[in-house]
Amino acid sequence: MKFYPEECSIKDERMKPFIDPDEIWAHINNAKPTKAKVKEIIAKSLNKERLSMAETAVLLMADEPELIEDIKAGARMLKEKVYGNRIVLFAPLYVGNKCTNNCQYCGFRVTNKDAVRKTLDTDELISEVEALEDNGQKRLILVYGEHPQYNAEYIAENVRTVYKVKKGKGEIRRVNINAAPLEIDDFRIVKEAGIGTYQVFQETYNPEMYKKYHLGGKKKDFEYRLTSLDRAQEAGIDDVGIGALFGLYDWKYEVLGLIRHTNHFEACYNVGPHTISFPRIQDAAMLNQSDKYIVSDDEFVRLIAILRLAVPYSGLILTARENQYVRREVMKFGVSQIDGGTKLELGSYHESVNDKQNLNKEQFKINDSRSLGEIVDELLDDGYLPSFCTACYRTGRTGEHFMEFSVPGFIKRFCTPNAILTLAEYLEDYATEEVAKKGWKVVDKNLKDLESFDKTDELEKRIERIKQGERDIYF
Ligand code: SAM
Ligand code: SF4
Repeated sequence: MKFYPEECSIKDERMKPFIDPDEIWAHINNAKPTKAKVKEIIAKSLNKERLSMAETAVLLMADEPELIEDIKAGARMLKEKVYGNRIVLFAPLYVGNKCTNNCQYCGFRVTNKDAVRKTLDTDELISEVEALEDNGQKRLILVYGEHPQYNAEYIAENVRTVYKVKKGKGEIRRVNINAAPLEIDDFRIVKEAGIGTYQVFQETYNPEMYKKYHLGGKKKDFEYRLTSLDRAQEAGIDDVGIGALFGLYDWKYEVLGLIRHTNHFEACYNVGPHTISFPRIQDAAMLNQSDKYIVSDDEFVRLIAILRLAVPYSGLILTARENQYVRREVMKFGVSQIDGGTKLELGSYHESVNDKQNLNKEQFKINDSRSLGEIVDELLDDGYLPSFCTACYRTGRTGEHFMEFSVPGFIKRFCTPNAILTLAEYLEDYATEEVAKKGWKVVDKNLKDLESFDKTDELEKRIERIKQGERDIYF
């Protein structure tokens, strides 16, 4: 099966910049969406082939309501066909908000003198992780500002600390990172500590606009940031996460920027991005942002659906920046991971802080502050299978999303059974009586759907072992 489009034999070189705005605009300007063309492109994606920039541009320029509906229906179908009903859950953990950069959209920027700066010490980090484990979390992403204190050794030490924290039946089984770009040797140091994915968002793929938003510190170097995940790959980290901050520039351009980044990885490393993030700008202290490029809710749904179709093998991450109604709606079009029980104020998972958000203590405003339990409850109501699975990473099967997508039968053999097992743990250890009741019904339904799976008996036995108190069992 051919997963990558022809253009991935392009002449990109490792660790060399690859963004040419004229190339991106040419694709957008040359796109001629017709009903037939859009249908043909959706069919290609449903056949599990990744779309080229030209094909993605056709979907982006399809502004007719009827075509937009076709694209949304295609993305929905692809999600159902390829990934099924699982949604993986995680939580962000902010470790330190000191920052030497001056990003115009961020509350942590160095010029925000009112920001309350804090870095968790080891005891505080442990308390935060214990509180997250008490909620039932198994996957975290550690988040940092950019500061000399948050170097590779420091991040690696944090990761080791997190993995050691075991509270009750709780433990963190996958630690991802969202921090400043590193040098290759430094990426090796964090890899050694056992990280999952390393995320660096390019924010905007337009170099001129990038300059306007990044006025100081190391982050102002567009090309250094653009090649940061090449350095991660050179260091052996092949689970890398890309993203654009929507609202900084034209959203259609940014989607093609993400596709161009994907081409670059495929051409140079033969592996695309593990995840793609598409945060929309939220209110933040000292936010200095015109609304010229604001992305409406309707455009947001479109861009998610198009990303799903364009890169069908990558995980799509949706965060609590969005409110619960938007989240519920856009999840249908291909999102695979969401956060739950999110708090951004440093130390706030274990300290009871004033519930009101304080923008001088947080990077930006979040719009979904529901607990993990409430989120699981809604997912169950909506027919999803909430998953805390980390099995691939722990058995050395990197690129979990790619395997789900590319290996026939992989989801039935591994993902769904493991999602069921991790949900069973959650229901036993953390769910309220009402959620547990709902959850076991969903487990039964998913077991029925798996009837043709030859290990159903074994899966049932393992669920029984979980009920007897055993933990961390996976396929
Ligand atoms: N400091 C590191 C960096 O800039 O890459 C890592 C973490 S930063 C805290 C995580 C991401 O938050 C940024 O890459 C940016 O896309 C996003 N972000 C910053 N300000 C935001 C805002 N006002 N609304 C939504 N997302 C924002
Ligand atoms: Fe610092 Fe990251 Fe915020 Fe920029 S986005 S000011 S680098 S924390």
